[in-house]
This record gives sequence, structure tokens and C-alpha cells, in this order.
Amino acid sequence: MRAHLQSIDELTPLLAAQRRAFDGHGPVSADERRARLQRVIDLLVDHHQPLAEAMDADFGGRHPGFGLLNDVQGSLGSLKHARDHLEGWMARDPRPVFAPYDQMGAQGWVQYQPKGTVGIMGTWNAPLFTLFSPLACAFAAGNRAVLKPSEIVPHTAALLAELIDQRFDPLELAIITGGVEVGQAFASQPFNHLVFTGSTEVGRDIMRRAAENLVPVTLELGGKSPVIIGQSADISEAARRLAVAKGTNGGQICISPDRVFVPVTRREEFVREFARAYSALYPSVSDNPDLVSVVNERHLRRIDGYLDEVRDMGVEVVQCPDVPFDAAQRKRPLSLVINPPLTSRIMREEIFGPALVVLSYSNLEHVVDEINQGERPLALYYFGADQAEQDYVLGHTLSGGVSINDALMHAALANAPFGGVGASGMGRYHGREGFIEFSHLRTVYQAPATDPRGEWGMLPPYHEGFASVIQSQISR
Ligand code: NAD
Repeated sequence: MRAHLQSIDELTPLLAAQRRAFDGHGPVSADERRARLQRVIDLLVDHHQPLAEAMDADFGGRHPGFGLLNDVQGSLGSLKHARDHLEGWMARDPRPVFAPYDQMGAQGWVQYQPKGTVGIMGTWNAPLFTLFSPLACAFAAGNRAVLKPSEIVPHTAALLAELIDQRFDPLELAIITGGVEVGQAFASQPFNHLVFTGSTEVGRDIMRRAAENLVPVTLELGGKSPVIIGQSADISEAARRLAVAKGTNGGQICISPDRVFVPVTRREEFVREFARAYSALYPSVSDNPDLVSVVNERHLRRIDGYLDEVRDMGVEVVQCPDVPFDAAQRKRPLSLVINPPLTSRIMREEIFGPALVVLSYSNLEHVVDEINQGERPLALYYFGADQAEQDYVLGHTLSGGVSINDALMHAALANAPFGGVGASGMGRYHGREGFIEFSHLRTVYQAPATDPRGEWGMLPPYHEGFASVIQSQISR
């Protein structure tokens, strides 16, 4: 058997073989877990350049330096953090025993056990990170794994499959490539845990399939992450930071700012400052190596379609930078769409590309209400210096994560949970919380040598006063 599975028919026997290996092996030591993680780290370090070039080729223009930063460094951060902390995470976790058994020598603890095999389905937008960051936690927890990269990045998927085939025992880590049919069959397998990163729509189907086998799922989905700019914000700095965030990966990031709520009195200033900051980062469009292309024609048509629709509706669209570009290429300027109607597609669907909605407001509570009327977003951003307002926003909204006075940054905290809520997902990974996500938390109680319940009159046949003794112990 090879680590690169050649057909979906090989997956069921592989899972059975991984299960036998898992059961036969018993506890997975810290050294073994570190060795597995190190093999992934070595793969990335040894082949970082061809991997970055493969991602560049798949996007038809994604700066290899950005690929190294986002996918290789990002994955290495998760993998090394897990490698360097897993021994502490694995330790037996003592829990206090109830009285009076605590006095009699009883003990309680939580044992963190690997679940078995974790299936991991990745996306195209961060093709390495969405596979290796969950894998870091799955391996740290002592599991085996099978990866399923996105078919939209075929060069990257093929190279990964080749490298994993060369370096891994399939009983430890395997990979299968393919499109929707493979994805559907993958999600229908009896994994011990399934991680899916992708769209909310596909996530629903994945969860339905996993439910057939009662497979627990971690769903890392998307959504329309809002930005609230408060009256007290430094508009120019907020616009600059949002321009940096929105330009990252050409806006094709799950936590990319999707719509910005700006006080009505400061909307023009925001648009001007954003356009200036974005145009300074990306002064040209076509053939600009720093600008990440829209990944394929389908997504390009989707983004262009949003813009055509709002233009037809008479909505103001500000192009940044305001220079001519070659529409035959997939590189696009960033389009600021000002106050589009609620009925437009760009207001209803996750943008996931080079466009950003700007909505002016005069009452912050209404903004919070509007956010709360929609699906729970994966990220939320607040800009401002008003502590009471910040507390109000944090206290009255729900989102996967938050960055204050910046965007995207909270996701870079290697030892803080990352995940969505509601329609933006369930479960979390990164750091210790990821280790817990892929562990079975098994409570163990070890009894004392003597059992005093008989002497205490607690066992049948119950004596006359038994009920009143128990009643006397019922308290508030
Ligand atoms: P997608 O849902 O189209 O695909 C994700 C994975 O599922 C791929 O491996 C794909 O091959 C597979 N797949 C696609 N259709 C399938 C189907 N019908 N049945 C089974 N499998 C199927 O997502 P995408 O376009 O690759 O990624 C973009 C989405 O992912 C956005 O919504 C984005 O917000 C989200 N995302 C979320 C995170 C996160 O961490 N929360 C990270 C990156 C992307």
C-alpha cells in the first residue's frame, strides 16, 4: 500500500489498516508524536521552494514569497508549536474527587487519548495551511491522518501527494487527490474525526455524510466578516490596515474583511484613504507580481458578476488603483462598493475576492443589530479608541474571532483557538485547543481500597430512616 492513494476504493481498506495499527500499537509516546510532526516539518523545509512555485502556478500569479509566508511559515508555526508543547498537553490531568472519597485515597483524572484516524479536507485558498495546521494538532494528539487537498490547486495537490508518498508510511499519513466525487466519498468514510475547511454550503453536506457514521466534525467555514469603524477611529490608519488585510491573497481569505461599516460623516474620508493606501501597495494591476490573481475563471466570473450587478443598479464603485488593466488576465483591482442594496448578491454572498463593501451608518446599535440579523461571521473587526464602544461591540456580537484595530491578526496566534460559530463553523484548532479537539477526553476514577457505603447505610435493603437522611442533605 502506498501513502498516495490512487483511487477512492483504496480508502476504506486503508482506514481499516490504520485502525488495526492504531489498536495494536497502544499508547503513542511523545517521542513518536514529535517524530511524526518532524517528518512533516522536514518535508516543508526541504521542499518549500517547489511548493511555493506550485501554488504560484495554480493561482496563475501568487507571489512565491507570499506562499512561503502564508502557507509554509504558517504551517511550520503550527507544527513547531505542537511539537514543542505536546508533552505538557498529553500529561494526565488530575481532577478533585468528591468527599469523603478524596480522604480515602480515591483518585480522578482525565486521560487525553488519540481518537484514531483524522480525515482532513483542505481548500485552495491556503492549500498547505488548511491541511497542515489541523494535521499539527491531530498528530500532537497521537492520531493518524488522511489528507484530501482541493482539486482547484492541482499542481500543489500533485506535489504534496508525491512528497507524502516518498516520506510517509501510509499507516501514519496518507493522501488522496480528486474533485467533488472524491470529496463526497471521503466525507462518507468512518473516520474517527473529520476536519473540513471550505464553504458553508459544502460544509452542510459534509456534516450530513459524516453523521451517517457518527463521525465528529470540525467545520472551518466562511462568512461575511464585518468591520466596524467607530467615531473615535484614526480613519487613515484603519484604512491602511484594512487595505493591507484586504490585499492579502487577493481577498481570498476566510477572515478577509467583507463589509465595512463607517460613520456617515467619515465615509468619504475612509474611501479616499483606503484607495490611497491600497494603490500605494499595488500601484499597477496587470503583471503586478505582488497582486494575487483570482484563482480561476469560475471565481473571476463570480466576482465580476457581483460588480456588474451593482453597477447596473447604479451603485458607486471605486476602483483601486484607478488604472487600466487587462481583463483577459485574472488579476483585478480592488473594488470598493459603496452602499449597495441588501438585495444585491454582493450583500448576500461571501465575497472571497478583490472587492469590499462600504456601508455608512449613523447609529452603531443599528449596525450591531444588522450584523446580528445575519449569520454568525468567522471574524469581526473593530477600529476605535472608545473603550465603552469596544466593550459594547464585543459584548453584543458573536463571531469566530476578533481583531481590534487591525484585521486578520488574531488568526496568527499559534496558541489560541481558531474556529467559527454558527454558520461560520464548529470546533476549533491551533495550539492546545486543537490538541483537545482531536483527543478523546476520557475520565478515569480509581476507587479506594475500602467501600464504606454499606457501613453508612447507603445500600439496599434501605433502613427506615434512609429517605429522611438523604432529605436532610438536600441543600441550596
Ligand atoms: P469548497 O467548499 O468548495 O471546497 C473545500 C473542499 O471540499 C475541497 O477539498 C473540495 O475538493 C471539497 N469539495 C468541494 N465540493 C464538494 C462537495 N460537493 N462534496 C464534497 N467535497 C467537496 O471551498 P473552497 O472554495 O475550496 O474554499 C473557500 C471557502 O472556504 C470559503 O467559504 C472560505 O471562507 C472557506 N475557508 C474557511 C477557512 C477557515 O479556516 N474557516 C479557511 C479557508 C477557507
